[in-house]
Amino acid sequence: MTSPSTPTPTPTPLANAAISIAVLGGGPAGTTTALGLVRLGYAVTLFTAPRRFDALEGVSDRVAESLRQNGLSATRRTLAQPSPRRVMWRNQVNAPNHESLIFRPDFDAALLQDARAAGVRVVEAQVGQWTKLEPSDLRGKIAVDFSTDGKDAQFFADFVVEARGRAAPLPPSRIRGPETVSLLQYWRPRYAAAEVLPRSAVQSFADGWAWVAVAANARRYLQLTFDVASIDLPDKAQLGDFCRSRLETLSFATEFIANAEPEGPPYARNCTSILADDIANDYSLRVGDAAVAGDPLSGNGIFLALSSALQAPAVINTLLHYPERAALAKSFHTQRLTGLFYRFARIGRDFYALEDQWPDAPFWRTRRHWPDTEPLHRRVTPDTVTIAQCPVINHDEIIEAEVVITPDNPLGIWRMDNIELSPMLKTIQHANNDGQAQQELVKLLDCPPQRAAQLLLRMRQQGWVK
Ligand SMILES: Cc1cc2nc3c(=O)[nH]c(=O)nc-3n(C[C@H](O)[C@H](O)[C@H](O)COP(=O)(O)OP(=O)(O)OC[C@H]3O[C@@H](n4cnc5c(N)ncnc54)[C@H](O)[C@@H]3O)c2cc1C
Repeated sequence: MTSPSTPTPTPTPLANAAISIAVLGGGPAGTTTALGLVRLGYAVTLFTAPRRFDALEGVSDRVAESLRQNGLSATRRTLAQPSPRRVMWRNQVNAPNHESLIFRPDFDAALLQDARAAGVRVVEAQVGQWTKLEPSDLRGKIAVDFSTDGKDAQFFADFVVEARGRAAPLPPSRIRGPETVSLLQYWRPRYAAAEVLPRSAVQSFADGWAWVAVAANARRYLQLTFDVASIDLPDKAQLGDFCRSRLETLSFATEFIANAEPEGPPYARNCTSILADDIANDYSLRVGDAAVAGDPLSGNGIFLALSSALQAPAVINTLLHYPERAALAKSFHTQRLTGLFYRFARIGRDFYALEDQWPDAPFWRTRRHWPDTEPLHRRVTPDTVTIAQCPVINHDEIIEAEVVITPDNPLGIWRMDNIELSPMLKTIQHANNDGQAQQELVKLLDCPPQRAAQLLLRMRQQGWVK
């Protein structure tokens, strides 16, 4: 195992330019991964085809911030100003929070614009299957089948990033939540509206929940989410009427469909929570929904996609250049995504459990107990905190480092304010009193006493030290 103190020659961007990486899928996960890889000097080709429907989605401020921090400036400009989001749950209306509405066709087009501007080669094409060729094959690589302008072709890459979202072929899924479907219906206003205030709302009902939104152009997006196992959906021709009659029973939705009429048939989107198998191997990596697809109730899908993609370049860089750390890199990617999956699944479970009007209805009964009974947060006390060697990201690589493990952070915390945590923790644990702990921290960090006092206080507030 190479430790951080063992210098390993850093691969130069020039060497990386000879390594070809195919990214399949140009959503937030694929594009962000492609951007990160191009910044490391790799030759990145992104294959993508537009999605078949016009979705409107909502994102939080942290998505806007992540896009800004990662240089996706054209994409960030497609986010509408944050608008109010009301929630009716347990028949109670909660004070509005807010979300930025995004029109996915514009958002997705801007992602590609940002990718091209950063030097990613974008190929608009439908991707078929990809195959790892045997080493005995002269090319010794991965063959990706794609078709563009009606012509079939093949591309040879050294590494593949699978980022086709829920459309990515799934290996035998490791974990699937209750099968869930959302029906999306667009409504257009009957009359030109003078001024439309973009807004959205969520409302629960006996066999599911609805997300309804109106965009600045007055188009309305009405999404009904159901349990696949228990809902008796009519055939395709009647689906529009089915949605309409459901929406008319929901107080929040009626406000959104007033003076409007449906536009085309509803579009069904699968939204079952899925944690895929084989997220990382020596020649391919899954990111975004292709690895971890969450329940849209949390409205965190894009955030999750970005989180998985931001760590991917360091994982791939390690797999390609430091085979001695391949197992570490794969375990880092898999553990982080598994952790995110459970975190968001438990947030969803706790929110479903709050809705107690229909405890025996199949939709609510299944979701209030899935994925498990583990609490979202665990109590952290000094005697539950330990120190261990775990994989962490160090610049563009995955290395093994000493981290602090807590019940709430089982994957470990390496640094706090850019300072390694475990030496600080050990120093404080060995001190007899606060004064001594502070003095020892001053020596360890070569910092002023006020700074040491501040760090000690923060660690105590976290429950890491007495
Ligand atoms: C009903 C529903 C509502 C949602 N609402 C929200 C929300 O409000 N807020 C939120 O943050 N998230 C929401 N999500 C989740 C969000 O859409 C995803 O989590 C996010 O887009 C995942 O990003 P990605 O890059 O992994 O995949 P995607 O965004 O799906 O990108 C994959 C890309 O690959 C392309 N592609 C697929 N197959 C091929 C192929 N064979 N060849 C070439 N290209 C291909 C697709 O067209 C697409 O451009 C919702 C999801 C659902 C199902």
